[in-house]
Amino acid sequence: MSQANRAALFFEPGRPFEIRELPIPEPRRGGLTLRITRANICGSELHIWRGDGRFKEIATPQGRILGHEATGFVHALGEGVDQDWNGAPVREGDRIAYQYFRPCGRCRSCIRGSTEACRDSFAIQRGPLDEWPYVRGAFADYLYLHPNQAFFKVPDNVTDTMVVSANCALAQVVMGLERVDVALGDQVVIQGCGGLGLYACAIAKERGAAQVIAIDGIDERLSMAERMGADHVIDFRKVSEPRQRVEAVKDLTGGWGADVVVEVVGFAGVINEGLRMLGLGGRYLEMGTFYPGTSFECDPGRLVMQNQRIEAVASYDAVSLQRAIDFLSRHAGSLPLDEVVVDYPLECIEQAFADQDAGRTRRASLVMS
Ligand SMILES: [Zn+2]
Ligand SMILES: [Zn+2]
Repeated sequence: MSQANRAALFFEPGRPFEIRELPIPEPRRGGLTLRITRANICGSELHIWRGDGRFKEIATPQGRILGHEATGFVHALGEGVDQDWNGAPVREGDRIAYQYFRPCGRCRSCIRGSTEACRDSFAIQRGPLDEWPYVRGAFADYLYLHPNQAFFKVPDNVTDTMVVSANCALAQVVMGLERVDVALGDQVVIQGCGGLGLYACAIAKERGAAQVIAIDGIDERLSMAERMGADHVIDFRKVSEPRQRVEAVKDLTGGWGADVVVEVVGFAGVINEGLRMLGLGGRYLEMGTFYPGTSFECDPGRLVMQNQRIEAVASYDAVSLQRAIDFLSRHAGSLPLDEVVVDYPLECIEQAFADQDAGRTRRASLVMS
Protein backbone atom coordinates (compact mmCIF):
# COMPACT_ATOMS: atom_id res chain seq x y z
CA MET A 1 0.00 0.00 0.00
CA SER A 2 1.22 3.45 -0.88
CA GLN A 3 2.65 5.34 2.10
CA ALA A 4 2.97 8.46 0.02
CA ASN A 5 0.01 10.63 -0.78
CA ARG A 6 0.13 11.17 -4.52
CA ALA A 7 -2.22 13.87 -5.71
CA ALA A 8 -3.03 15.00 -9.26
CA LEU A 9 -2.80 18.80 -9.44
CA PHE A 10 -4.92 20.76 -11.90
CA PHE A 11 -3.69 24.26 -12.80
CA GLU A 12 -5.59 25.51 -15.84
CA PRO A 13 -7.28 24.23 -19.01
CA GLY A 14 -4.75 23.02 -21.55
CA ARG A 15 -1.98 22.43 -19.00
CA PRO A 16 -1.39 18.76 -18.12
CA PHE A 17 -2.04 17.50 -14.58
CA GLU A 18 1.02 17.17 -12.34
CA ILE A 19 1.37 14.34 -9.84
CA ARG A 20 2.85 15.63 -6.57
CA GLU A 21 3.42 14.03 -3.17
CA LEU A 22 1.67 15.65 -0.23
CA PRO A 23 1.52 14.69 3.46
CA ILE A 24 -1.08 12.16 4.59
CA PRO A 25 -3.55 14.14 6.76
CA GLU A 26 -3.67 13.13 10.42
CA PRO A 27 -7.28 12.70 11.51
CA ARG A 28 -8.62 15.14 14.09
CA ARG A 29 -11.40 14.55 16.59
CA GLY A 30 -14.63 13.46 14.87
CA GLY A 31 -13.02 13.02 11.44
CA LEU A 32 -11.20 10.25 9.63
CA THR A 33 -8.55 9.72 7.00
CA LEU A 34 -9.68 7.80 3.98
CA ARG A 35 -7.47 5.78 1.65
CA ILE A 36 -9.05 6.40 -1.76
CA THR A 37 -9.32 3.27 -3.91
CA ARG A 38 -10.96 4.82 -6.96
CA ALA A 39 -12.36 8.16 -8.10
CA ASN A 40 -14.44 8.83 -11.21
CA ILE A 41 -14.28 11.78 -13.55
CA CYS A 42 -17.66 13.47 -13.11
CA GLY A 43 -19.24 15.68 -15.80
CA SER A 44 -18.57 18.78 -13.70
CA GLU A 45 -14.83 18.07 -13.77
CA LEU A 46 -14.85 17.83 -17.56
CA HIS A 47 -16.25 21.38 -17.64
CA ILE A 48 -13.40 22.55 -15.37
CA TRP A 49 -10.79 20.72 -17.46
CA ARG A 50 -12.14 22.29 -20.67
CA GLY A 51 -12.56 25.71 -19.04
CA ASP A 52 -16.25 26.06 -19.91
CA GLY A 53 -17.99 29.28 -18.85
CA ARG A 54 -17.68 30.05 -15.16
CA PHE A 55 -15.65 26.90 -14.56
CA LYS A 56 -12.61 28.96 -15.65
CA GLU A 57 -12.66 30.49 -12.16
CA ILE A 58 -11.58 27.16 -10.67
CA ALA A 59 -8.13 27.45 -12.30
CA THR A 60 -5.37 28.46 -9.89
CA PRO A 61 -1.60 28.89 -10.31
CA GLN A 62 -0.97 26.96 -7.05
CA GLY A 63 -2.85 23.93 -8.36
CA ARG A 64 -6.04 22.32 -7.11
CA ILE A 65 -6.98 18.70 -6.55
CA LEU A 66 -10.21 17.78 -8.32
CA GLY A 67 -12.24 14.60 -7.81
CA HIS A 68 -15.29 13.95 -5.64
CA GLU A 69 -17.10 10.88 -6.99
CA ALA A 70 -15.02 8.34 -5.08
CA THR A 71 -14.77 5.54 -2.57
CA GLY A 72 -12.11 4.05 -0.31
CA PHE A 73 -11.38 2.47 3.06
CA VAL A 74 -10.66 3.85 6.51
CA HIS A 75 -6.95 4.52 6.97
CA ALA A 76 -7.14 6.18 10.39
CA LEU A 77 -10.01 7.13 12.68
CA GLY A 78 -10.10 10.40 14.57
CA GLU A 79 -10.85 10.44 18.28
CA GLY A 80 -14.48 9.65 19.05
CA VAL A 81 -15.30 7.97 15.74
CA ASP A 82 -16.36 4.33 16.15
CA GLN A 83 -19.60 4.14 14.12
CA ASP A 84 -20.78 5.08 10.65
CA TRP A 85 -23.84 7.31 10.16
CA ASN A 86 -26.12 4.31 10.44
CA GLY A 87 -24.71 3.18 13.79
CA ALA A 88 -22.62 0.30 12.38
CA PRO A 89 -19.25 -0.17 14.11
CA VAL A 90 -16.38 1.11 11.97
CA ARG A 91 -12.70 0.11 12.05
CA GLU A 92 -9.57 0.82 10.09
CA GLY A 93 -9.73 -1.06 6.79
CA ASP A 94 -13.52 -0.82 6.44
CA ARG A 95 -14.73 0.20 2.98
CA ILE A 96 -16.92 3.29 3.01
CA ALA A 97 -18.89 5.64 0.78
CA TYR A 98 -18.97 9.28 1.88
CA GLN A 99 -20.74 12.58 1.30
CA TYR A 100 -18.13 14.60 -0.62
CA PHE A 101 -19.39 17.92 0.76
CA ARG A 102 -20.09 19.01 4.34
CA PRO A 103 -23.41 20.60 5.28
CA CYS A 104 -22.74 22.99 8.15
CA GLY A 105 -25.84 21.91 10.13
CA ARG A 106 -26.56 25.43 11.40
CA CYS A 107 -27.42 27.70 8.48
CA ARG A 108 -30.91 28.74 7.32
CA SER A 109 -31.13 25.80 4.86
CA CYS A 110 -29.73 23.21 7.26
CA ILE A 111 -32.08 24.08 10.14
CA ARG A 112 -35.02 23.73 7.75
CA GLY A 113 -33.87 20.20 6.93
CA SER A 114 -32.55 21.05 3.45
CA THR A 115 -28.94 20.07 4.10
CA GLU A 116 -28.49 19.51 0.35
CA ALA A 117 -29.00 23.28 -0.08
CA CYS A 118 -26.45 24.32 2.59
CA ARG A 119 -24.64 27.50 1.66
CA ASP A 120 -21.31 26.35 3.09
CA SER A 121 -21.25 22.73 1.90
CA PHE A 122 -18.34 23.17 -0.46
CA ALA A 123 -16.06 25.28 1.74
CA ILE A 124 -14.01 22.14 2.55
CA GLN A 125 -12.88 21.96 -1.08
CA ARG A 126 -10.94 25.23 -0.83
CA GLY A 127 -7.61 25.87 0.89
CA PRO A 128 -3.83 25.86 0.36
CA LEU A 129 -1.95 22.64 -0.37
CA ASP A 130 0.63 23.24 2.38
CA GLU A 131 -1.96 23.53 5.13
CA TRP A 132 -3.70 20.60 6.86
CA PRO A 133 -5.59 18.61 5.56
CA TYR A 134 -3.58 19.30 2.36
CA VAL A 135 -5.76 17.23 0.04
CA ARG A 136 -9.27 18.57 -0.70
CA GLY A 137 -10.15 16.43 -3.70
CA ALA A 138 -10.29 12.69 -4.42
CA PHE A 139 -7.75 12.44 -7.27
CA ALA A 140 -5.21 11.44 -4.62
CA ASP A 141 -4.25 8.46 -2.44
CA TYR A 142 -5.58 9.88 0.84
CA LEU A 143 -8.37 12.28 1.75
CA TYR A 144 -9.63 13.70 5.04
CA LEU A 145 -13.31 13.42 5.97
CA HIS A 146 -14.46 16.18 8.33
CA PRO A 147 -17.02 15.77 11.10
CA ASN A 148 -20.47 16.36 9.52
CA GLN A 149 -19.49 14.55 6.31
CA ALA A 150 -21.83 11.56 6.32
CA PHE A 151 -20.24 8.17 5.61
CA PHE A 152 -21.52 4.61 5.49
CA LYS A 153 -19.91 1.19 5.46
CA VAL A 154 -20.19 -0.63 2.13
CA PRO A 155 -21.68 -4.16 2.24
CA ASP A 156 -19.40 -6.99 1.05
CA ASN A 157 -21.55 -7.79 -1.98
CA VAL A 158 -21.12 -4.22 -3.33
CA THR A 159 -17.79 -3.90 -5.20
CA ASP A 160 -15.70 -0.71 -5.37
CA THR A 161 -16.63 -0.44 -9.05
CA MET A 162 -20.31 -0.49 -8.14
CA VAL A 163 -20.14 1.91 -5.20
CA VAL A 164 -17.79 4.52 -6.67
CA SER A 165 -20.67 6.48 -8.27
CA ALA A 166 -22.87 6.29 -5.16
CA ASN A 167 -21.67 9.53 -3.55
CA CYS A 168 -22.44 11.75 -6.55
CA ALA A 169 -24.48 10.42 -9.48
CA LEU A 170 -26.50 7.72 -7.76
CA ALA A 171 -27.34 9.59 -4.52
CA GLN A 172 -28.40 12.63 -6.56
CA VAL A 173 -30.74 10.47 -8.64
CA VAL A 174 -32.15 8.85 -5.48
CA MET A 175 -32.89 12.27 -4.00
CA GLY A 176 -34.24 13.67 -7.28
CA LEU A 177 -36.75 10.90 -7.92
CA GLU A 178 -37.89 11.18 -4.31
CA ARG A 179 -38.35 14.95 -4.78
CA VAL A 180 -40.72 14.41 -7.74
CA ASP A 181 -42.45 11.47 -6.04
CA VAL A 182 -42.00 8.81 -8.70
CA ALA A 183 -44.65 6.34 -7.56
CA LEU A 184 -46.31 3.02 -8.31
CA GLY A 185 -47.78 3.06 -11.81
CA ASP A 186 -46.07 6.28 -12.99
CA GLN A 187 -45.04 6.88 -16.58
CA VAL A 188 -41.45 8.14 -16.53
CA VAL A 189 -39.27 9.60 -19.31
CA ILE A 190 -35.48 9.85 -18.91
CA GLN A 191 -33.83 12.38 -21.25
CA GLY A 192 -30.19 11.23 -21.60
CA CYS A 193 -28.58 7.88 -20.76
CA GLY A 194 -25.19 8.84 -19.33
CA GLY A 195 -24.36 7.80 -15.74
CA LEU A 196 -27.25 9.74 -14.17
CA GLY A 197 -29.73 8.57 -16.79
CA LEU A 198 -28.84 4.90 -16.43
CA TYR A 199 -29.28 5.08 -12.66
CA ALA A 200 -32.54 6.99 -13.14
CA CYS A 201 -33.93 4.11 -15.26
CA ALA A 202 -33.17 1.62 -12.49
CA ILE A 203 -34.36 3.77 -9.57
CA ALA A 204 -37.62 4.69 -11.35
CA LYS A 205 -38.40 0.99 -11.82
CA GLU A 206 -37.43 0.30 -8.21
CA ARG A 207 -39.95 2.93 -7.09
CA GLY A 208 -42.71 1.21 -9.06
CA ALA A 209 -42.84 3.09 -12.38
CA ALA A 210 -45.18 1.28 -14.76
CA GLN A 211 -43.10 2.31 -17.74
CA VAL A 212 -39.70 3.93 -18.21
CA ILE A 213 -38.96 5.50 -21.60
CA ALA A 214 -35.29 6.42 -22.12
CA ILE A 215 -34.01 8.79 -24.83
CA ASP A 216 -30.46 8.89 -26.22
CA GLY A 217 -28.58 8.63 -29.52
CA ILE A 218 -25.70 6.25 -28.72
CA ASP A 219 -26.21 2.49 -29.23
CA GLU A 220 -24.20 1.43 -26.18
CA ARG A 221 -26.13 3.79 -23.89
CA LEU A 222 -29.51 2.71 -25.29
CA SER A 223 -28.76 -0.95 -24.71
CA MET A 224 -27.43 -0.22 -21.20
CA ALA A 225 -30.64 1.72 -20.48
CA GLU A 226 -32.66 -1.37 -21.39
CA ARG A 227 -30.50 -3.53 -19.15
CA MET A 228 -31.00 -1.01 -16.31
CA GLY A 229 -34.76 -1.33 -16.62
CA ALA A 230 -36.00 0.97 -19.40
CA ASP A 231 -39.12 -0.53 -21.05
CA HIS A 232 -38.78 1.55 -24.21
CA VAL A 233 -35.95 3.49 -25.77
CA ILE A 234 -36.23 6.36 -28.25
CA ASP A 235 -33.18 6.76 -30.50
CA PHE A 236 -32.97 10.45 -31.34
CA ARG A 237 -30.97 9.69 -34.49
CA LYS A 238 -34.06 7.94 -35.87
CA VAL A 239 -36.75 10.05 -34.19
CA SER A 240 -34.92 13.23 -35.06
CA GLU A 241 -37.49 16.01 -34.49
CA PRO A 242 -38.49 17.14 -30.96
CA ARG A 243 -42.14 17.15 -32.09
CA GLN A 244 -41.86 13.48 -33.13
CA ARG A 245 -40.35 12.52 -29.78
CA VAL A 246 -43.14 14.27 -27.90
CA GLU A 247 -45.63 12.35 -30.06
CA ALA A 248 -43.81 9.08 -29.40
CA VAL A 249 -44.13 9.63 -25.62
CA LYS A 250 -47.84 10.47 -25.98
CA ASP A 251 -48.35 7.29 -28.05
CA LEU A 252 -46.55 5.13 -25.49
CA THR A 253 -48.64 6.55 -22.63
CA GLY A 254 -52.12 6.13 -24.12
CA GLY A 255 -52.26 9.81 -25.07
CA TRP A 256 -51.79 11.06 -21.48
CA GLY A 257 -48.13 12.03 -21.51
CA ALA A 258 -45.59 11.35 -18.78
CA ASP A 259 -46.09 11.75 -15.03
CA VAL A 260 -42.39 12.47 -14.60
CA VAL A 261 -39.69 13.61 -17.05
CA VAL A 262 -36.05 13.70 -15.91
CA GLU A 263 -33.45 15.91 -17.64
CA VAL A 264 -29.99 14.37 -17.39
CA VAL A 265 -28.61 15.38 -20.79
CA GLY A 266 -26.87 18.46 -19.42
CA PHE A 267 -28.09 20.71 -22.22
CA ALA A 268 -30.81 23.31 -21.63
CA GLY A 269 -32.02 22.99 -25.24
CA VAL A 270 -33.85 19.73 -24.41
CA ILE A 271 -35.94 21.16 -21.54
CA ASN A 272 -38.81 22.61 -23.55
CA GLU A 273 -39.18 19.32 -25.39
CA GLY A 274 -39.21 17.46 -22.08
CA LEU A 275 -41.84 19.80 -20.60
CA ARG A 276 -44.08 19.12 -23.60
CA MET A 277 -43.86 15.38 -22.89
CA LEU A 278 -45.53 15.89 -19.48
CA GLY A 279 -49.17 15.03 -18.95
CA LEU A 280 -51.68 16.60 -16.57
CA GLY A 281 -50.20 17.01 -13.08
CA GLY A 282 -46.77 16.03 -14.41
CA ARG A 283 -43.46 16.78 -12.66
CA TYR A 284 -40.27 17.82 -14.43
CA LEU A 285 -36.97 17.04 -12.71
CA GLU A 286 -33.96 19.15 -13.74
CA MET A 287 -30.57 17.69 -12.77
CA GLY A 288 -28.38 17.66 -15.87
CA THR A 289 -27.73 21.35 -16.52
CA PHE A 290 -25.90 22.16 -13.31
CA TYR A 291 -24.09 25.36 -14.27
CA PRO A 292 -25.62 28.84 -14.53
CA GLY A 293 -25.64 30.89 -17.71
CA THR A 294 -28.00 29.08 -20.10
CA SER A 295 -31.77 29.37 -20.57
CA PHE A 296 -34.74 27.57 -22.07
CA GLU A 297 -38.14 28.34 -23.59
CA CYS A 298 -41.20 27.60 -21.53
CA ASP A 299 -44.92 28.22 -21.92
CA PRO A 300 -45.99 29.09 -18.36
CA GLY A 301 -49.67 28.96 -19.30
CA ARG A 302 -49.31 25.30 -20.17
CA LEU A 303 -47.69 24.58 -16.80
CA VAL A 304 -50.54 26.36 -14.99
CA MET A 305 -53.39 24.89 -17.04
CA GLN A 306 -51.97 21.39 -16.66
CA ASN A 307 -51.06 21.70 -12.96
CA GLN A 308 -47.42 20.80 -13.59
CA ARG A 309 -44.30 21.59 -11.62
CA ILE A 310 -40.55 21.86 -12.16
CA GLU A 311 -38.06 20.74 -9.49
CA ALA A 312 -34.26 20.86 -9.44
CA VAL A 313 -31.76 18.89 -7.38
CA ALA A 314 -27.97 19.44 -7.37
CA SER A 315 -26.65 17.30 -4.54
CA TYR A 316 -28.35 15.18 -1.87
CA ASP A 317 -28.97 14.61 1.81
CA ALA A 318 -27.29 11.91 3.90
CA VAL A 319 -30.21 9.47 3.78
CA SER A 320 -30.12 9.47 -0.03
CA LEU A 321 -26.54 8.19 0.09
CA GLN A 322 -27.57 5.44 2.50
CA ARG A 323 -30.49 4.50 0.23
CA ALA A 324 -28.14 4.47 -2.76
CA ILE A 325 -25.84 1.95 -1.06
CA ASP A 326 -28.80 -0.23 0.00
CA PHE A 327 -30.08 -0.15 -3.57
CA LEU A 328 -26.69 -1.35 -4.87
CA SER A 329 -26.65 -4.18 -2.35
CA ARG A 330 -30.17 -5.34 -3.28
CA HIS A 331 -29.38 -5.37 -7.00
CA ALA A 332 -25.77 -6.58 -7.03
CA GLY A 333 -25.68 -9.35 -9.64
CA SER A 334 -29.08 -8.59 -11.17
CA LEU A 335 -28.33 -5.19 -12.78
CA PRO A 336 -25.13 -4.27 -14.72
CA LEU A 337 -24.07 -1.91 -11.91
CA ASP A 338 -20.37 -2.68 -12.25
CA GLU A 339 -20.23 -1.88 -15.97
CA VAL A 340 -20.76 1.86 -15.65
CA VAL A 341 -17.06 2.82 -15.35
CA VAL A 342 -13.78 2.18 -17.24
CA ASP A 343 -10.50 1.95 -15.27
CA TYR A 344 -7.36 4.15 -15.61
CA PRO A 345 -4.35 4.30 -13.26
CA LEU A 346 -3.98 7.69 -11.49
CA GLU A 347 -0.84 8.42 -13.54
CA CYS A 348 -2.97 8.32 -16.71
CA ILE A 349 -5.35 11.04 -15.53
CA GLU A 350 -4.66 13.24 -18.56
CA GLN A 351 -5.55 10.40 -20.93
CA ALA A 352 -8.66 9.58 -18.89
CA PHE A 353 -9.94 13.17 -19.20
CA ALA A 354 -9.14 13.27 -22.93
CA ASP A 355 -10.91 9.96 -23.55
CA GLN A 356 -14.00 10.91 -21.59
CA ASP A 357 -14.11 14.34 -23.24
CA ALA A 358 -13.95 12.74 -26.69
CA GLY A 359 -16.66 10.20 -25.81
CA ARG A 360 -14.19 7.31 -26.14
CA THR A 361 -15.06 6.11 -22.65
CA ARG A 362 -18.36 6.07 -20.70
CA ARG A 363 -17.14 7.23 -17.28
CA ALA A 364 -13.44 7.04 -16.48
CA SER A 365 -12.52 5.73 -13.02
CA LEU A 366 -9.04 6.52 -11.70
CA VAL A 367 -7.68 3.62 -9.71
CA MET A 368 -5.14 4.27 -6.89
CA SER A 369 -2.76 1.43 -6.04
ZN1 LIG B 1 -20.17 14.87 -9.47
ZN1 LIG C 1 -25.76 24.72 6.32
